[in-house]
Order: sequence, then C-alpha cells, then structure tokens
Amino acid sequence: MADLPPYLSPSSATAFDGCPRRWMFKYVERRPEPSGQAAIVGSFVHEVLEALCGLPAPERTQDRAKELARALWPSVEENDDYLGLALGEAEARAFRWQAWLAVAGLWRLEDPAEVDVLSTEQKVTAELAGVPFLGIIDRVDRVSGRLVITDYKSGAVPAARWRADKLQQVLLYAAAFEQIDGQQPDRARLLYLGQRVLEVTVTSPKIEEAANQLAATWDGIETACASDRFDAKPSVLCGWCPFANDCPEGWAELVQREAAGTLPDHAPARLLALA
Ligand code: SF4
Repeated sequence: MADLPPYLSPSSATAFDGCPRRWMFKYVERRPEPSGQAAIVGSFVHEVLEALCGLPAPERTQDRAKELARALWPSVEENDDYLGLALGEAEARAFRWQAWLAVAGLWRLEDPAEVDVLSTEQKVTAELAGVPFLGIIDRVDRVSGRLVITDYKSGAVPAARWRADKLQQVLLYAAAFEQIDGQQPDRARLLYLGQRVLEVTVTSPKIEEAANQLAATWDGIETACASDRFDAKPSVLCGWCPFANDCPEGWAELVQREAAGTLPDHAPARLLALA
C-alpha cells in the first residue's frame, strides 16, 4: 500500500489524470523528473516576473525586467537540468532569447506598471471538497476594489476544447484564497505570455464544480494507493515521459507510434523506440 501524499496540487492532479503510472513514479517513488526546456523557461520567467512585481509600480518597465533577467540568468546556467540539455553556443543563445521573449510577452497583455499587486507566489493550503489542497498563486491583484487571481503560462494557448479544464486550476486557487482571506476573488486568469489571456468569472457554483473534479481525482489516487495499482495510460505523451524505459506499456506505445510514423521527431523518448 503506497502512502497518500499530504496535499494535492493542481500539477499533481493533472499528472494523475494524465497517467497514474507516471504519477506513481514521480509522487510515490519520488524519482526525479528532469525539467525540459519548456519547464526551465517557465520557472525562469516566473522568477523574473515575481521580482518585477516586487518593485514599486512605476519601476516595472521592460528595462528593469531586462536587468532582473540578466541578474537571474546565471543561476539557470548553473542548474543541472539546464546543463543536461548540453546546448551548443548558438542553441544556448536561442534558448536565452526564447526565455526573454516569454518575459517580454507580459507587455503584450498588460502594463505591469498599472497593476495593483497584492501578493506574488502566495502559498495557499485549504480543504476543498474534502481534499487537502496546496497551491502557489503567481499573483493576486486588486482591480477596482475587486480581487483577481493571475497565473502565468509560458507555453502555447491550449486548443478551445481544453481551455475550461485549464481554468479549473485558477478556480481552485480562488477557492483556496477565499478560505484563507474570507473574500471571494472576482476573476481568475491565465496569462499566456505574448499570446492572450484566458479568464473566468469566479462564482460559487464554478468553484464547487472545480473542487468536485479535484475530489474525483483524489478518490482515484486514494484507490490507487490503497491497492498499489497505478495503471499505465499510454498516449503520445509517452514520448515525453522520462520513465518510459521502466514502463512496458509506454515502451510498446512508443514502438507502435514510431512504426506508424505518429511519434513526433522532437519527442525525447523517441530514442527508446529507435533502439
Ligand atoms: S511511458 Fe507512458 S504509460 Fe508509461 S508511465 Fe510514462 S506516460 Fe505513463
């Protein structure tokens, strides 16, 4: 019988829904999951924007953001996951540029000098529909006296059919924030940097729906942990799974997709199928 985690975060819930076996490798066996290029860019961008929003509002300019990015970049270059990418000089330059474009993408969506920031990187714990929930809210703003929850995304905007699912995350943050603060936020937003804003008006029924979905995932985790059975859920995402080598179903999926020509060339685990 596997130990239940003390909390469920949105990323852990998404991971379990995506593939319980992969979740087990990461959250039960605690195997390290190296950050890929996208995740490294994401955490760098979050760090820069957190530092930027900690400045007095008039100082939140692109020039100051560049200074902050320059100051923080060396820590990225020392990171093991970054070193593991083994980038050549030109690739490293392109990577740095990609990271900066994500930071600068904020100005395509809003002027941070005009944002009334109440908090950044706020850790929230709460019990939502019986689930011990843990989240870190990128930013809480005040707009015309009302509260707005904001989460930054440096990846691509999801297809229309997945957007409601993605907004569940910020609805859960809104629910946890309300439990702690006593005020229900007015809106919750995902800022896809450089692209567009996805937004939802926060209401009690929407919060309840998001919390119930979280509870369904938690039930699945409880059942899996109690029975020590974590089913594999093979999909194209096996191509990005660092544990594919230890997962027969995932490995078979890779081989079958490679034979059918449906495994993208840039999928890191493709090498397994070619071996
Ligand atoms: S290889 Fe695929 S099926 Fe196996 S754990 Fe990874 S994502 Fe799940």
